[in-house]
Amino acid sequence: MNKFFLRINGRGNAWPVLLGQHHPFYCYGSNVEYANASFSLLNFREGIRDKKNLIWEVLIDAGHGTIPFLLNSFNRIPEVLFITHPHFDHILGIDWIAQSYYKFNSKRKYPVYATRACWTSILTTIPHLNDIVEFHNLEYGLETNVKNIKGVSVTAFPVYHGQHAYGACMLLFNMKNNYQDNKILFTGDLLCPILRHEDIKELKGVRYLVSDSNNRFPYPRSNHWSIVNSNAYPDKKHFQTWKDGLNLEDIFEPLGKTIAGLETFSSELKNGKKWKEKLCYTLAALVMKIQPEITLPVHYSGQEDEKYYGEEILCSTGLRKWLKELEHRINFSTSFEVPENGRYYNF
Ligand SMILES: [Zn+2]
Ligand SMILES: [Zn+2]
Repeated sequence: MNKFFLRINGRGNAWPVLLGQHHPFYCYGSNVEYANASFSLLNFREGIRDKKNLIWEVLIDAGHGTIPFLLNSFNRIPEVLFITHPHFDHILGIDWIAQSYYKFNSKRKYPVYATRACWTSILTTIPHLNDIVEFHNLEYGLETNVKNIKGVSVTAFPVYHGQHAYGACMLLFNMKNNYQDNKILFTGDLLCPILRHEDIKELKGVRYLVSDSNNRFPYPRSNHWSIVNSNAYPDKKHFQTWKDGLNLEDIFEPLGKTIAGLETFSSELKNGKKWKEKLCYTLAALVMKIQPEITLPVHYSGQEDEKYYGEEILCSTGLRKWLKELEHRINFSTSFEVPENGRYYNF
């Protein structure tokens, strides 16, 4: 029987290792990792993981390091690409992939899915993609079948990732096999997801949650998510000050008013006074709500933990150990796994 897999193509954030810098997570005992948040969903004949038996590959985000990774794995073009938001560490590989596809397929345009606001923003950075990409619009909250990938659907949900991430979204994939659901949620980068009551139900019990985990403790000015809130740690008041100043215009403006489906999310949030309490501000809070089987924290930086909380930046082993202690203390019904590049996870 054919089987689905998730592969980690890159787990680094925007600039995990600046030129001239060492980072315990990205240099620790191995080659330096490139800035690259990228993942693949793959379908292999009989579950045999080689190029010959690969039926299709769906790529999620393509940052600086995605091309070297693809060249060094199967050296083939993924059938389709999804983009969560228009930041460099998620989009700089698009051109190389689309050019390759265009050349090898008699000038056919390469299929890329994103929200319209995200795609418009990408085109301001790399305008000629307009000539070589077949753009597919994702509407928030609307389940869409993926073209030419049988049985796979995707739903985009809005996320707030600061003021410069137009059309940012998280992506829920469902790969149906003999009528059985195989769900996986990629958060993209975020400060908080914007989910309706019905979405929480839809996301409950996903097999994998692949989540931005930029810091262990919150520092919202980084525009990234933390793993826990700061209740149990020295609270330097960064989070509370930010939350006090948060307003709905700030949250919804960067998401792009032109995106269909956004109104239903904003109206549910506005409905009732305590809208700030309805949002999840940490990965731990979302995990409590949707209870994924396995949670994969990616995009770790740790810089703000060190700077504002006086905690050391961890290596992979250190983060793994810290998460196990957290799992034990908070009694999560998920298993945290810090993924290595190139690692496969099965469904
Ligand atoms: Zn990023
Ligand atoms: Zn980002």
